[in-house]
Amino acid sequence: MNLRLLLMSLPVLASLSACSVVEDARITEYRDGRKAAVSLTFDDGILDHYTLVAPHLDSLGLRATFWVNGNSIEQGEINYAPRLTWEMCREMSERGHEISNHSWSHPNLTNLSEEALREEVFKNDDAIEAATGKRPITFCYPFNAQNELVAQVCHEGRVGTRDYQEAQGQVNSHSTPESLRAWLEKVVENGEWGVTMSHGIHHGWDQWNDETVLWDFFKDLASRQDTVWIDTFAAVAAYRAEREHCTIRVRKYRKCIGLKPSCDLDPALYREPLTAEVTVNGRTRLLTFDPFGHEQYFEK
Ligand SMILES: [Zn+2]
Repeated sequence: MNLRLLLMSLPVLASLSACSVVEDARITEYRDGRKAAVSLTFDDGILDHYTLVAPHLDSLGLRATFWVNGNSIEQGEINYAPRLTWEMCREMSERGHEISNHSWSHPNLTNLSEEALREEVFKNDDAIEAATGKRPITFCYPFNAQNELVAQVCHEGRVGTRDYQEAQGQVNSHSTPESLRAWLEKVVENGEWGVTMSHGIHHGWDQWNDETVLWDFFKDLASRQDTVWIDTFAAVAAYRAEREHCTIRVRKYRKCIGLKPSCDLDPALYREPLTAEVTVNGRTRLLTFDPFGHEQYFEK
C-alpha cells in the first residue's frame, strides 16, 4: 500500500478490529436489487425519435437507446422517413439517452468483406463520437443479421450487442395495450432483461396508428420502477457483464462493513456501479459499490 492510500485509510483502520467475513452477501441481478430490467431501443435514427419519443421519455425521467446510421443522418431522408440530425443526436445524448451504432449505411453486414464490414462499423463510431463526444460501446445489427465474423468485429471495444429484441409497433408488429402489458409482465415474472425494438412513429418501418398506446406503455413502465430497472442498453449490458466477472468479499468490522471487489474487465469500458445485497446482524441492506475500487466502507 502506498503512503497516500495508507493515510487515506487511517481513520477507517482506527475503527477496525477483529473482523469476520460476511457469508450472506451477493451482487444483485439488476441495479438496486430490482427484479427485472428493460431497455427501450429505437432503430434507424428517425426524426420522430427526437420530436416525439424523447420528449415523452424525458417527461417521465426514462432513458433509452437510439441506434443511428451516419449515412442516413447525412442524407436527411431515406424511404420518405426524415432522419435525425447530428445536432439532435448531441442534444439527446446530453439529456442522458444513448446514441449508438447501427452501422454507417444499414447493409446486411453478413454479405460484406471484412474490410467493408470494419468500415461500416467503425466509420459510424467515429461519426457518433464526433457528434456527441461519446464513443458507442454497444452495437445493433442491421436486419438483426449476424454471423461469426460480424459478431466478432461488432463486439470489439463494446459491452454488448443487441442479440434479441421484442418488436413493438402497430403496422407490422400489431402491438396493442394488452400485448405490451403482457410482455412486460412476463419480463418481470421471469426476472428477464427485456429489450424492445421500435422504429418510427409516423415514418419508416412498423409505425404506430395510435401513438398513445406507446406513451401509455412508457407510463406503465415508469410506474413500475421499484421493480423494473429501466435504463439504456449500454448500462444494463455493462452491469450484467460486470456482475458475471466480479466477486466481492465483505467483512464485518467493529464499526463498519468493508466490501472488497475484484473484477477482471477493462475499467475504461465498464463503468457501471454494482449493487450488493448484504445481511449483517439480521439486517439486509443494498450497497452500491465501484467494482474496480479498493475496499469500500459502509456504516454498519
Ligand atoms: Zn435498422
